Amino acid sequence: MYECKQTKQKPSSNIEDDSCFFVFWDCLLPLFNRCRQCNSTVVSVQHYIQGALLSIITICDRNHKLIWRSQNKSNKRPLGNILIGSALTLSGILYTQMVAFCDSLKLSFFSRPVYDKIIKRYTGPVICNIWEDQKKSTINSIKNSENDIWLAGDGQYDSPGFCAKYCIYSVMDLRSGKIVDFKLVQKGMVKGDLERKGCELLLNDLTKNQNFNIKLFLTDRHKGIRFYIRTQHPEIQHEFDVWHLSK
Ligand SMILES: [Zn+2]
Repeated sequence: MYECKQTKQKPSSNIEDDSCFFVFWDCLLPLFNRCRQCNSTVVSVQHYIQGALLSIITICDRNHKLIWRSQNKSNKRPLGNILIGSALTLSGILYTQMVAFCDSLKLSFFSRPVYDKIIKRYTGPVICNIWEDQKKSTINSIKNSENDIWLAGDGQYDSPGFCAKYCIYSVMDLRSGKIVDFKLVQKGMVKGDLERKGCELLLNDLTKNQNFNIKLFLTDRHKGIRFYIRTQHPEIQHEFDVWHLSK
């Protein structure tokens, strides 16, 4: 039997149903010594691990077979695993960093293919839906505003120098500070400079498909983009932004 020692700590009152805790196997196992149905001795304890989910099956000497799980499930997939995967994506922590953290703690964690499935089936579609809604609302509010449209654009490469494979070109609304849209361009899929191509695709989309009447467009001193706007969009006033000029 375990003694209940008095502590100076005050009991916590704010535990929510989906709060999580870190539990040692050592602390958990004694809870399964007795059958939860009839309180007689447990004669068999088996455990199964599925990512961060622990399932414990006990059989008592009266043959009651009971299963306990550390997470609830939704369609056979542990909800905690989905939540950890989503939290990982949304916090920006890399999978390899998380695995290093879990390995050093001996914290049970799911494999890379499981993480990829979670992104594909759960996190990815939710992020896409929210982004599409957000984009529509930003574009509509810019269109419905009486102010001139002032935008800024910049490209971000996946790695520096000539070895970059991807470039994400984003356009921001200068008045609200919100990202209006972005394009991902990949080497091999487009000819020429990735940043210029991203800018071209975005400006074409905004001016033709969204009927944006852009008054002012700020960028860094990128020669290709400078040439493109001067020749293809002479109606747009192109300026260099102060942040890039001060670098
Ligand atoms: Zn029993």
